[in-house]
Amino acid sequence: MTDRVVQLVDTRKRNSVPSMLMPAALAASSASSPSLLKDQRGRALHDLRISVTDRCNFRCVYCMPKHVFGSDYPYLKQPELLSFEEVRRIAGQFVALGVEKIRLTGGEPLLRRHLENLIELLADLRTPAGKALDLTLTTNGSLLRKKAVALKQAGLKRLTVSLDAIDDAVFRRMNDVDFSVGDVLDGIQAAHEAGFDDIKVNMVVKKGWNDDQIIPMARHFHDTPHTVRFIEYMDVGASNGWKMEEVLPSRDVIERIADGVAPLRTLEPNYPGEVAQRWQYEDNGHEVGVISSVTQAFCSTCTRARLSTEGQLYTCLFASRGHDLRTLLRGNGPGMKGPASDEQLRAAIANIWLPRGDRYSEIRTAETQARERIEMSYIGG
Ligand code: SAM
Ligand code: SF4
Ligand code: SF4
Repeated sequence: MTDRVVQLVDTRKRNSVPSMLMPAALAASSASSPSLLKDQRGRALHDLRISVTDRCNFRCVYCMPKHVFGSDYPYLKQPELLSFEEVRRIAGQFVALGVEKIRLTGGEPLLRRHLENLIELLADLRTPAGKALDLTLTTNGSLLRKKAVALKQAGLKRLTVSLDAIDDAVFRRMNDVDFSVGDVLDGIQAAHEAGFDDIKVNMVVKKGWNDDQIIPMARHFHDTPHTVRFIEYMDVGASNGWKMEEVLPSRDVIERIADGVAPLRTLEPNYPGEVAQRWQYEDNGHEVGVISSVTQAFCSTCTRARLSTEGQLYTCLFASRGHDLRTLLRGNGPGMKGPASDEQLRAAIANIWLPRGDRYSEIRTAETQARERIEMSYIGG
């Protein structure tokens, strides 16, 4: 671990309040028309990631390193957090505008008390065509044994569990709070028993730290119903001291698995713009995936918006500024006479999405890396 002094820039305080004037593209249609909501690069607003807490019980070295996220770290205070009713209300407007998939994240989302109550509220939402949402959650798995049944009963459809090693010593080094692999595996088992049959297991690969775990992880899950996905280590936020030399390209991951576990063949994406590249073992047909966020940017098909725990909307993981939807929800901005109406909220979201041109990963350079960026634990992965 380096002794680097990290200058934390609190970008959370300088977000703009979006205009609530209906943009022409939406006003032209009588009802909100999702097909019109395309950004400057033709990308529709399709997915919403909602962070429900900026706190976590892990200190993963690539996300919340201990020397930055110490006991004096200024986490958000309770009144700053969106309430479940506020999240439900804003999520409903996104769904009216075309969002079909919602992922809950954090921080560690299962630390938010009674999260199942929020899931119940979101599970009731329907798209304009009357479809239920693809409602999913990413977790470090530490509380799954306790929560899996309640999550399932509340209407959560799918789960992604992060696990960065199968060797206990390496995993404890990665999470930096001495949490054991056995407890995460037990959480995955609990989720499976509760009826989650589409569990993804995500491993961030940090070269020199856990890349010796690629083959053991792939072997461990080779004969299970769970799909492992290896994620390239990203330069999110300002605190993890990211270096390109610590990124192991996904093509090397695939080579190692094909040599060390079993031969692989490619699989077609499940849907256009799927982030993970899918592979299949030739010996048993099971799936394994890679997410090449650094070496093969997927900005051209990025349809994701991110809502922070305090109601700030970000249109890119690497954004330095958000848009303050909480002020509109609460109606406590200068000159506001009360909370924004649903129509005004939709207009505000459209005013943010329509001019969007984000493509950070396609244009990553030393200069772009020097810009302020929001932390992953704040905005959610
Ligand atoms: N705490 C939960 C968890 O770990 O699953 C949810 C939040 S976490 C920020 C979401 C995902 O982001 C995790 O899979 C994590 O491994 C990933 N992540 C965090 N920092 C990352 C980084 N620098 N590069 C790549 N992935 C990262
Ligand atoms: Fe916590 Fe998830 Fe970040 Fe690890 S990756 S520190 S578990 S938020
Ligand atoms: Fe989407 Fe931004 Fe990531 Fe590109 S860099 S894929 S625009 S979140």
